[in-house]
Order: sequence, then C-alpha cells, then structure tokens
Amino acid sequence: MNLLLGTTNPGKLREILSILGDIPGIRWLTPAEVPVPDVPETGRTFLENALLKARTVAAATGHATLAEDSGLEVDALGGAPGVQSARYAGDPPDYAANNAQLLATLAGVTDRRARFRTVAALALPDGRVWTTEGVLEGRIADAPRGPGGFGYDPLFIPAGETRTLAELSPEEKNALSHRRRALEGLRPVLIQLAAESPGSDLCF
Ligand code: IMP
Repeated sequence: MNLLLGTTNPGKLREILSILGDIPGIRWLTPAEVPVPDVPETGRTFLENALLKARTVAAATGHATLAEDSGLEVDALGGAPGVQSARYAGDPPDYAANNAQLLATLAGVTDRRARFRTVAALALPDGRVWTTEGVLEGRIADAPRGPGGFGYDPLFIPAGETRTLAELSPEEKNALSHRRRALEGLRPVLIQLAAESPGSDLCF
C-alpha cells in the first residue's frame, strides 16, 4: 500500500515516519515524490484543517493520504495561538519570531499552562476517512532552551519534566508527544488497510 504524507513540514515528516514507519506493507510517499496541492488552512479547528488537507490531497493525487494539523494552546491566552500556531508572528511562518512573540505576550504572566494538540486524518480517494487526536499537557518556559525538535519545542516543558521538548532526544519526544498519541490511534487502521491491499495504493 502506498501512503502519501500530506505535509511539507520537515519536522512533522521526520516525526511521522519515525512513529509509524515500522508498519509492514506501507510504502511511504512524500511531497518530494508526489506533488501535492497547497491547501490553505481555512478551518476554525484542528479537525477541520486536518480533514481538509487529507481529503483535498487524496482527491487531487489519487493516493491514500495521511495529514495532520497541530498547534499550541496556551490557557492564559484563551487557547491561542491554536490553529494560528504556524503564523502567530505573521506570514511567512517563522519559528524564532513565533517563540519571541509568545514570550513577549506572556511577560509577567504566572499561569504558564499550555498543551500541544494534534489531529491526524487519513483519507482514501474513495471518500473513507479516519481521524484521531493526541494531546500533550505542559507549560511554557521563561526562555527558549535546547537544540532539538522544531517550532515551539524550545519553549514547551511537558508535564512531569524539567526539560523542554527541544532538550529531549527525538526518541524521548516521540515517546510522549501529542503527534505520537494521535498517530498511534491510526495504527490499527493502517495495519488493516496494508494487509488488505498488498501492492496497491488504494487508487480508485
Ligand atoms: P500546521 O499544523 O502546519 O498549521 O502548523 C502547526 C504549527 O504548530 C507548527 O508550525 C509549529 O509552529 C507548531 N507545532 C506543531 N507541532 C509542534 C511540535 O511538535 N513542536 C513544536 N511546535 C509544533
């Protein structure tokens, strides 16, 4: 079974492949091999955006497609940046500017509670879809720390940790991440589809 990853974000691609890449019978395709349409994230929720991306790419390419939408929700900001996480400090997306903006907005704020949320969507060209969600609770650090990960990782301390996500190894982050929790929910479906469709990419 061929499965197209409907994201061009290198941080997400790396993590998705290391989380689900061990499933037998799946040949992973990326936008480097199969051109995917640019899908504007016009939804109001992670679920709407994940479904929009997966369905649009599956319909346009004829490949089973796995997409996800994710972001950071800060309690003291009423859940912002939320679906605006990638462009919190403006367009084009800039991780360092986003982190600086978040720290500036939270200056003097003692309630640092936050969570990462991922909604993953698997869409087949015949219209079938599956969605799953994963959450990682934590808090926002006072300053960026660590070289790893991507996005807001240098500012996010998972619950029960003293280190930021960017100070964890890739394996440590993947063991507990919101992305891991969402994607593992799709594992049984992917195993089943791969077993049912050996050698097929579920094109219709
Ligand atoms: P989108 O899903 O393409 O809209 O982008 C989500 C944005 O949320 C990314 O550009 C990052 O800024 C942020 N984000 C999502 N997941 C993570 C993560 O695992 N670590 C750090 N930042 C993340």
